[in-house]
Amino acid sequence: MRVGVLGAGQLGRMLALAGYPLGLRFCFLDPTPDSPAAALAEQLVADWHDAHALTQLSECNVVTFEFENVPVETVEVLTTRTRVCPGPTALGVAQDRLHEKTAFQELGIPTSKFAAVHDEAGLGEALAEIGAPAVLKTRRFGYDGKGQYVIRSAAEAPDAWRALGGEPLILEDFVPFSRELSLLAVRNRSGDTRFYPLVENEHAEGILRLSRAPARDLEPELQARAESHAQRLLDRLDYVGVMALELFDVKGTLFANEIAPRVHNSGHWTIEGARTSQFENHLRAICGLPLGDASALGPTAMLNFIGHVPPAAMLLEIPDAHLHDYGKAPRARRKVGHLTLRAGSPEELEVKIARARVRSGESSSAASTSAKAKPSSA
Ligand code: AMP
Repeated sequence: MRVGVLGAGQLGRMLALAGYPLGLRFCFLDPTPDSPAAALAEQLVADWHDAHALTQLSECNVVTFEFENVPVETVEVLTTRTRVCPGPTALGVAQDRLHEKTAFQELGIPTSKFAAVHDEAGLGEALAEIGAPAVLKTRRFGYDGKGQYVIRSAAEAPDAWRALGGEPLILEDFVPFSRELSLLAVRNRSGDTRFYPLVENEHAEGILRLSRAPARDLEPELQARAESHAQRLLDRLDYVGVMALELFDVKGTLFANEIAPRVHNSGHWTIEGARTSQFENHLRAICGLPLGDASALGPTAMLNFIGHVPPAAMLLEIPDAHLHDYGKAPRARRKVGHLTLRAGSPEELEVKIARARVRSGESSSAASTSAKAKPSSA
């Protein structure tokens, strides 16, 4: 079976690594030459709208995407020629924060208060309704904290407008969360679903730094609440594949922040830390195969490497540490690799995390900033 993938970054590379044992073959499309997945499979280097490339890709038995900003029209064209999972509806909802929040609201999933903002006067009105602090965001193409402005008081509205105005925007209530969580869910073509244990995520400067799985002190009720939110989204979107639901934990109430219609950085731990990785389960789902067990093998953490990958030998001295180097050129704010750490107990895991942070040159104080959102600007 041949799987076509839109995007050829590290997520595509890890999909291919998981797919070869299943006998799958891959073809990637990405405008950037020599992308991380190109080391493993054919990469078509072409624009997302390139007719010849889309024809080649549509010869695959199934097409998926590992990059969320693929134009919906590209997916729509492919849908007329082959099976595409997830479909264009899910992609369209995930690409626009206003559609995403509206879907949460319609499904009874708690989310921050929000309002669409079309012009500067509209920002004033939205701020009067929602109150400060609030977060002004671009509706589309925001990632890793980009395209956001935290407005602490009404007086800051003109600055926020200067930073982001001109694009379709959304204003959100600032959610006073105690921690950020994500739920990786997977649904296959028969409608069967599996859920990974909730993951606890730390960000710094808007970029994911550390995931702990399962989340610390995870109560079954919290897990059940998250699964119920995700199940409603999967069913509403008739979703096939892995979906990540990002959540804010406010004293046990889970506020949905956004969804990613693809395998997700906060699920990388599943490669060594779960019975079936998110990558394998995504492929099983889209290829019409039964899903694998999504339970954790034990306490696991994933440390992202941003900018550069530290020397392998230093990291691999840590027992049960697993290095993933994406083969990308070093660059500031770029995710270039990650380390998975497994341990026999949550306490042992903390010791390993601290060791890995020191060995990767990350000071633990800098690294621990982020369970709380920090004001960011565009
Ligand atoms: P996002 O691009 O929506 O994932 O936002 C990036 C980060 O900004 C999140 O991981 C949070 O730390 C923070 N953030 C985003 N939206 C809100 C909000 N409404 N309230 C509080 N923090 C937020």
